[in-house]
Amino acid sequence: MPMKIAVIGAGPAGMAFALAAARGGETVTLYEQKEALGRKLLVTGSGRCNLSNHAVSAGVYTCPDPSWLAQTLEAMPPEALLATLDGWGIPSFATPDGWVYPLSESAGAVVAILEEQLRNAGVILRVATRVKRFERSRGGGGWKLHLDGPDAPSAACDHLVLASGGRAYPRLGSDGALFPLLRELGHTVRPPLPALGPIYAELGAFAALKGQRFDARTAIYAGEELLGSSEGNLIVIAEGFNGPGVMNLSHLVGVHGSQALSLSLDLLGTRRKRLEQGLMSARCSLGALLSMFFAPKAVPVLLQMAGLQPHKHVGQLNMREGMALVKGLSDLRFKVSGAGNFENSQVKVGGVAVNEVHPVTMRSLKLPELSLVGEVLDVAGPCGGYNLHFAFASGILAGKAFAAPGL
Ligand SMILES: Cc1cc2nc3c(=O)[nH]c(=O)nc-3n(C[C@H](O)[C@H](O)[C@H](O)COP(=O)(O)OP(=O)(O)OC[C@H]3O[C@@H](n4cnc5c(N)ncnc54)[C@H](O)[C@@H]3O)c2cc1C
Repeated sequence: MPMKIAVIGAGPAGMAFALAAARGGETVTLYEQKEALGRKLLVTGSGRCNLSNHAVSAGVYTCPDPSWLAQTLEAMPPEALLATLDGWGIPSFATPDGWVYPLSESAGAVVAILEEQLRNAGVILRVATRVKRFERSRGGGGWKLHLDGPDAPSAACDHLVLASGGRAYPRLGSDGALFPLLRELGHTVRPPLPALGPIYAELGAFAALKGQRFDARTAIYAGEELLGSSEGNLIVIAEGFNGPGVMNLSHLVGVHGSQALSLSLDLLGTRRKRLEQGLMSARCSLGALLSMFFAPKAVPVLLQMAGLQPHKHVGQLNMREGMALVKGLSDLRFKVSGAGNFENSQVKVGGVAVNEVHPVTMRSLKLPELSLVGEVLDVAGPCGGYNLHFAFASGILAGKAFAAPGL
């Protein structure tokens, strides 16, 4: 006898669950409060949908229990996820640095294929239908859902799957409104904080470089204590910095918000030795020397911040000034004034405690007729396909667990 399963949320996690469970023979209804499926999925990877990453491993995620996450990722590593997506009609490729995209490079195509597959598998789609709340059915066994949508105001199911996402980008659907209900049901929910967003800082003269991009190592410090670091491309914005190189650190500002934080940019990286050599032997102005390393617009600003004149000859620099210049360019400090909010951050840290959920079947260890998948859980990855990997992987594992109940 197939089980009646209700899924709340048609993001990647909910759709992956619904498809895997329906193909295993279960009767699945998917409730989505937006008028269409996969609204957030549509904008991922700037519309190209960065689905996974070959460097997926528990250590790169922010999760209070990495050993829990390691079991999930071991059960659904990138090769297994990509093979499943391929079987659903979503073949993919990886860039040389391991970021995985669909062959179509179109998030729109991914959503369209998933919707077609869901319909073919017989999943009942209830869009524009918000699940306001849910409660255990009278007499136990299953759930009653209270709905706000075009059809009946309530529904019943044997098993409930929470795939309602986190709190980031609420205009695309995930607003965190069900977290209090999960707390009432006995689950621990770490308060969500925005992650993968801009970091705001007092830029000083650097503000003149608004719009300029740098490849840099970024670090966040509380005093001299290193809280975290990241490497990658960043862009200077009016209020601070954005782009993958800083987004991976933005949650640290929320987590350590009460402390005085500074952001350090290492603009030299492996080129540091080359600059040191140049300072010892180049026969040109400082401006000309730095133009070998930075865009022309950046050179006068960087020298101004170091208190040096662009036309000064390299040979006129004393040892102390040379060392200060190199140090400044490899540890350019800015006072942090804040970070992005839920409106402009891609994910959240926090959510339902993972140790209250089975790491492979995603069943609640507190309520056996409940499963939780995707960003509703306390798992957040950096930029690069890690969040979609977890959303798809947890959904598929939970859906397959119905076909193989021994899991
Ligand atoms: C701009 C942007 C770009 C991103 N790019 C990438 C990327 O390239 N690669 C990557 O790995 N990650 C990316 N992410 C993160 C990724 O999109 C999310 O981590 C992922 O979508 C989470 O999947 P989910 O299914 O758990 O939740 P969501 O995708 O948030 O889906 C949850 C769904 O549940 C619905 N819902 C919520 N509550 C209810 C309710 N009460 N009743 C009915 N429906 C409800 C919501 O409307 C929503 O559709 C990006 C995020 C953003 C905002």
